[in-house]
Amino acid sequence: MRVGLGYDIHPLTENRPLILGGIDVPHHKGLAGHSDADALTHAICDALLGAIGEGDIGSRFPSSDASFKNISSIVLLQEVVTVVKSKGYRLINLDAVIIAQAPRLGPHLAKMRAHLARVLEADEDRVNLKAKSGEGVDAIGREEAIATHAVCLLETAEPQPRP
Ligand code: MG
Repeated sequence: MRVGLGYDIHPLTENRPLILGGIDVPHHKGLAGHSDADALTHAICDALLGAIGEGDIGSRFPSSDASFKNISSIVLLQEVVTVVKSKGYRLINLDAVIIAQAPRLGPHLAKMRAHLARVLEADEDRVNLKAKSGEGVDAIGREEAIATHAVCLLETAEPQPRP
């Protein structure tokens, strides 16, 4: 078995959609970044890459590469899932916590979970998402940023050749 840890934070800014877990969350601000800045999906990518000893999302999909500009982070996660499978691992479970002062993410977690479970090719009960308020503390509490932590556990499986 292999364990992986991921963390990400992006600033909130005007005139951007708020995308978390591949889901468009209605809000007057969105996350700034080179891709769609989906901090949840980025933390999940890093947890998976960490578990298989493949570095991190920044080294695999560098922001210096124009082809990743505004790309859906779900596309990046699909690529990471392909790498995980090609190295002969499958997901036991994943747990993540999103820290956001606003908006309240609770009503959106089920949709994110269903979407991410499909991309991860896992049953929904293996993909757990939690939302925490920033409690008014620091940049997250001032609604300047949203952060995510993720951990995953993988087990060995038959390696599946990359398509
Ligand atoms: Mg990121």
